[in-house]
Amino acid sequence: MSRLKKAVGYVIRTQDYGETSKILKVLTREAGMISLIAKGARRPRSPFGAALEPLCLSEFVYYDRAGLKTLSQASLLRMHEELRRDYDRLTAALRCARFVHRLLEEDHVEERAFELFGELLGALSTEEDVRLYELAFPWKLLARLGVAPQWERCAVCGRDLSEASGRIGFSGEKGGLLCGGCRSASGSEGEGEVPLAPGTARGLAMLLKLPFPKLHRLRLSPADIRLGERLLREFVAHHLRPMPAGDRRSGEFVSHPRDELS
Ligand SMILES: [Zn+2]
Repeated sequence: MSRLKKAVGYVIRTQDYGETSKILKVLTREAGMISLIAKGARRPRSPFGAALEPLCLSEFVYYDRAGLKTLSQASLLRMHEELRRDYDRLTAALRCARFVHRLLEEDHVEERAFELFGELLGALSTEEDVRLYELAFPWKLLARLGVAPQWERCAVCGRDLSEASGRIGFSGEKGGLLCGGCRSASGSEGEGEVPLAPGTARGLAMLLKLPFPKLHRLRLSPADIRLGERLLREFVAHHLRPMPAGDRRSGEFVSHPRDELS
């Protein structure tokens, strides 16, 4: 028999199901990513109200079992209205939610991911530089899950690059920065290697080091942010599982939140 459980979580994704139901993916504090079926959620007088809207923080009571669980009750805790009033902020948050959906396995407790997503929504609600926060989130999430790229040392030979001068490189395939020697030995940009200045690398590394509340101190140029997005795409393409088949659009491997908004 399935047991009734309670969890607090962010609605990451919703999908219509059947005539009147919805299937939700929720990032919970207590149970990690879970799938819930909300029966009757699309009826005019749904008992769940706004609690099932994407990005809402809600409390869920559900019948627990492996895989799809049945939602019994849901109550809204936080709507993040500030975020919903601004198109750029909202789309940035939704793209990050898609990244969460892609990255996290279901039914694995991942409390740090829950906290990080809350910090992201807080920052996107108030801070000006939306694109900086949108870029920082996937890097931080990867780091918290222990799969971030190597930003301090050469990913091939291990040389300390924190004081490096001269051109270095980044390879998603090899797992991070490359020193001058390993760069030339491993080929060129044609093999997915991106050249970058040490100062830029140090700036991008700060995306990982600075917590969200201190990230406003970091000044990255629009060009550096675009480069950071590119490196993220390169890294994710090599290190993450592809989107589940049903989530892939026109067969592509979607690799970065900026590409992923449906
Ligand atoms: Zn090296």
